[in-house]
Amino acid sequence: MSLLGFRTTYELALLFTCLLGDFLPSTVKSTHGNLPRALIDSSTHWGVAFFSWAIIVQAKNYKEFAECLLCGVLAMGIDADHFIAARSLSLQAALSLSSRPFLHSTTLTLSISLIIFITGHILNKGWIKLLSVMCFIAWTSHHIRDGSRRGLWFSPIGSTPPIPYNLYVILTLLLPLLVIFILKLFNSDFMRSDLHRQLYVEAKSKNVLPI
Ligand SMILES: [Zn+2]
Repeated sequence: MSLLGFRTTYELALLFTCLLGDFLPSTVKSTHGNLPRALIDSSTHWGVAFFSWAIIVQAKNYKEFAECLLCGVLAMGIDADHFIAARSLSLQAALSLSSRPFLHSTTLTLSISLIIFITGHILNKGWIKLLSVMCFIAWTSHHIRDGSRRGLWFSPIGSTPPIPYNLYVILTLLLPLLVIFILKLFNSDFMRSDLHRQLYVEAKSKNVLPI
């Protein structure tokens, strides 16, 4: 499959994940309680982050799919703040908070991602810089998806209105492409896998760059 083919395939998978994840909760009867909806929501956050990272690295080997898995776990993981804020493992308590829990502050997650990136830059460690980009994708895609219901929360300034559904889907599809654009702009070599590096060198010799 060509590099364009990988990216298009994963973009379509990302679109399908969004649409399916937003449709499935409507099929769950309210008598089944909150658990099925919470599991669908969590899995959708995981899938969105998984395919977003797959688009960025054009995943095609075990190492890159492992990165996709990790990105998905990072996206799912921030919902743990519901339980931390509720000081309870009860799903009912976690879903009944009066305010949004701290890891849903976009200001905070952007700051954490930036601090990780700066740390990687100072220590000159490519994997730390890669982790910062992964955190950014995982957490921002999660916030955009939640934002279709509650808006984006830029503490301490406030929240935006809820993101219209179509705009949320478009932003989700554009986010990995925006990251690719920025990485390309800064010629971020740390993002290229060995295979991609090899393809890059080959393409460069033919004057056809893959990204
Ligand atoms: Zn959330």
